[in-house]
Amino acid sequence: MSEAQSGAAFGDTSILTRRILAGLGLGAVLGIALNALAFNGWLPADHGARIFVVDGVFYVGGKIFLASLKLLVVPLVLVSLACGTAALDDVTKLGRIGGKTLGLYLLTTAVAVTLAITAAVLLEPGVGFDLSTDSAGFSAREAPSFAQTVIDIFPDNPFRAMSEGRMLQVIVFAVLMGVAMTLAGEQGLELLRVFESANAVIMKLVFVLMEVAPYGIFCLVAKVFAEQGVDVFERLARYFFVVLAVLFVQMTVSYPALLLIFGRLKPLRFFQKLRAPITVAFSTSSSGATLPVTLRAVEERLGVDGSVASFTVPLGATINMDGTAIMQGVATVFIAQAYAVEIGPAGYLSVVVTATLASIGTAGVPGVGTVMLAMVLQQMDLPVEGIGLILAVDRLLDMTRTAVNITGDAAVSCIVARSEGKFDLEIFNGP
Ligand code: ASP
Repeated sequence: MSEAQSGAAFGDTSILTRRILAGLGLGAVLGIALNALAFNGWLPADHGARIFVVDGVFYVGGKIFLASLKLLVVPLVLVSLACGTAALDDVTKLGRIGGKTLGLYLLTTAVAVTLAITAAVLLEPGVGFDLSTDSAGFSAREAPSFAQTVIDIFPDNPFRAMSEGRMLQVIVFAVLMGVAMTLAGEQGLELLRVFESANAVIMKLVFVLMEVAPYGIFCLVAKVFAEQGVDVFERLARYFFVVLAVLFVQMTVSYPALLLIFGRLKPLRFFQKLRAPITVAFSTSSSGATLPVTLRAVEERLGVDGSVASFTVPLGATINMDGTAIMQGVATVFIAQAYAVEIGPAGYLSVVVTATLASIGTAGVPGVGTVMLAMVLQQMDLPVEGIGLILAVDRLLDMTRTAVNITGDAAVSCIVARSEGKFDLEIFNGP
């Protein structure tokens, strides 16, 4: 569907983006105000009115919005990727697109961790840290083994893969279906038409959902800010700001450089077009849940052809987590410094490799980055309880790194599409 058609049916997209940003801003202001009221004792945390608003209205509103986003993820990936694969005139192209995409995803993540480690080594957020308090009581969940992670990519039951939301398995199944539908000739085309019509219907659902997104985002953000204590930041300020600074550099330097060099695309335009998914990622802390919004923006606002976007975006939401890798890099060095463990140059290299792998294994849902951090710490022989130190500020960092995660997916999608001649510059440069 064209931009004009969708715009006519559901309002101007730039107005929608402004409403989404307004939801985010108002939510943050109200949340911070509620937090300040509680801090000053004017509206304590156990006050009935506050509980009704924060744990009632915001909680329910936010959860419903999240559920609605997640509802669309599996059907959208399945049908859009199957259609995208079938639309490739030559199946061998898939291998080339896959190779480029994986290569770029690995590259951006390795750059991200390297930046993170450099910043943490120079700025020393963990030096002189008092270890005695928060780490007590944290018990790490076990990270899956590498072999199991590889085996888990291949589905043994498509329905289980879909019902359990195993994205890599759904991706494999969708690609196989797409290839088989074209190979099956006339009969395969019949099923393809059903998939194409399902794709149009699900995309329509995404448009409808975006109309209520400002309210959902408002609820999610207001709740987080209302509950986030300000006092925890004092002790962890240095760690918090180092992670934030590197995320900022990745957004404003690494991606623009990549877009300019490999894609010959204007970074400012790119960010303008990506405002809606960035906002949704920030408020949901989940690249997985943001996927329908990212996919829509990448195809319809940035101009990436569906045959590329339907593959690169879901894959990115599952394995490409540059923001998460940044947190893991800074956190590892921070914990080493806090426990006064010397890592050394070879150790840092090992952190780059393990954090890249750990971020690949991180699911696109809130907070999983810290679970996978255990894998990096174990590899480095660092105390896993150290994760307990950083948990207090992880919620806000999770929001920010998720926004970076999906931006990386979109940037790589643009570059791959451009190199394959599957990019519409008119859409990209359009209003
Ligand atoms: N919340 C992140 C995401 O969904 C993953 C993480 O870092 O915890 O992209």
